[in-house]
Amino acid sequence: MVDASATGNPERPMPEIDPQSEHLTINSLVTKIVLMVFAGSFAAAMLVSWAAIKPTQEFIAQSIEEQYPAAVQRAAESATAWLSAGREELARLTSPPWDESSESALQDLLAESRYFEGFAICDDRAGLSDGVGSVPICPPATENSEPKSEWIATSLANGVMVTAASVSISREGASPRSAIGVFDREQLGSLLAEYSPDRRGSMLLTLGTGGVLAGSGPDPLSQAEPPDPNEAGRGVRESTDSPWRHTIHAAHPLGESGWFAAFEIPFGEAYASLLVLIRRVLLIDLIAILALCFVSYRITSAVLTPIESLSMGARRVAEGQFEFEIPDPGTRDELGVLINAFNRMLQRIRTSQEEIQESNENLRTHNVKLQQANELLEQLSITDGLTKLHNHRFFQDQLTREIRRAERASSPLSLLLVDIDDFKSLNDRFGHASGDELLHGLALIMNAAVRSSDLLARYGGEEFAVLAPGTDQDGAYQLAEKLRTAIAESSFILGETMRITRVTVSVGVAQFAGNRKEFFEQADRALYRAKAAGKNCVMVGEGDSIA
Ligand code: GH3
Ligand code: MG
Ligand code: MG
Repeated sequence: MVDASATGNPERPMPEIDPQSEHLTINSLVTKIVLMVFAGSFAAAMLVSWAAIKPTQEFIAQSIEEQYPAAVQRAAESATAWLSAGREELARLTSPPWDESSESALQDLLAESRYFEGFAICDDRAGLSDGVGSVPICPPATENSEPKSEWIATSLANGVMVTAASVSISREGASPRSAIGVFDREQLGSLLAEYSPDRRGSMLLTLGTGGVLAGSGPDPLSQAEPPDPNEAGRGVRESTDSPWRHTIHAAHPLGESGWFAAFEIPFGEAYASLLVLIRRVLLIDLIAILALCFVSYRITSAVLTPIESLSMGARRVAEGQFEFEIPDPGTRDELGVLINAFNRMLQRIRTSQEEIQESNENLRTHNVKLQQANELLEQLSITDGLTKLHNHRFFQDQLTREIRRAERASSPLSLLLVDIDDFKSLNDRFGHASGDELLHGLALIMNAAVRSSDLLARYGGEEFAVLAPGTDQDGAYQLAEKLRTAIAESSFILGETMRITRVTVSVGVAQFAGNRKEFFEQADRALYRAKAAGKNCVMVGEGDSIA
């Protein structure tokens, strides 16, 4: 608000201009600054985030590179030892005096073995002779008779693949037969689990094709990524076969068996801590960027709103509008001082305008009064104060005009000179004031008798003149008679005397014949003759006398 004391005038409430609506347009300075802050803070946040995340990612990758191959190597070694020990146990248990023909031969094996969960006796045609526990399907005869490795992969009747050891129990004279022991999957799984570098992944025993023979982990896989025999035992491999299966592998061969100890873990699990870190950093980035944008919007708005108000205000002043006010930003900084000064300037302009308006109004009133006074003066200058008829001067001016008109239009123009008879003695008898009263009364009577186109004037002391345009001598005579008769027939009660008085007039009439002086003298001579003829009569032109 403007300091009212600065101008000395009480402040009128002024409408305030509001530039807010222009802020959110795409071209506004606010939008540009907010976009700039957004771009800058985004770039800075990405740089800082990258600097924070990159070492963590490298650290996790390095520990994966170090841990996984070492773990699968230890798992391979341990599994090899365990499987070898299992096979040796099978060989020992099935050697004499063990007799496969005894009724409890297989039951005895199951009771004594520490490595197996089931047994089968297979003949050379891959036929099953007998079985106990988890009974495996007999492998083909060739593998049965000459196993390529110490251990074989077979499956149970329900199709589940298992690891097994095969030992020949052929006796002389009898057909070739083998004892097949199915390794205890639980034990093997626990053994593998011990070497798992990450509980969220699966430590597996696989074939070269990736087929899983045994495994640890929350949900052991049935098919793993086939290990690359050339790379197995050297580092880790990343596989992205399909968009939803992004995994990390490490594998180590179990000797010459063609089997592998393999560790497989989903990429997201292996890098879970990194992904959590990335999510947190991005969330903090987002919050920081939004906060910066919001703060910059508020600050820019706070600075620009008063500037835009001032800009709009300056445009309005340029257009000649002063009936408004810039909203006070409420601060006493440079902008606050500028706005305060702008509002005071507006107030001064308004006050000056009001003063000028007031002066103009006064001037107008004075002009009107002056005009009225002039008109009155003009009226007074052509009016006789006593009778309110036109005076001698006005009569002369009008006469000039009427003579010109009569000459131009060749129309008649007549003059009547009216003189009160024996007025001096009336003054003497009743007093001067009564004489004045009578003059006024006669003026009223004559004014009522003449036409509006006629000009009646007080010509001298007790003399009147009538100018009758468009009237010839006869008409003028009739008018003169009308006047004379009207006056002669009127009675007057003058002043405080309360006596009825009568008065008469003599009239001289002339018609204009081309000479103004002659026009007057003719009427004057006619009047003189009327007086000489005994008064109370009308005389016309040269010599015509009518009583
Ligand atoms: P006549 O019949 O021959 O005209 O005689 P008169 O007395 O009317 O003429 P005169 O010229 O002798 O006198 C005119 C008188 O008119 C003189 C004066 O006292 C009077 N008079 C002139 N002007 C005024 C006026 O304004 N008021 C009054 N009351 N009397 C006036
Ligand atoms: Mg006279
Ligand atoms: Mg007279």
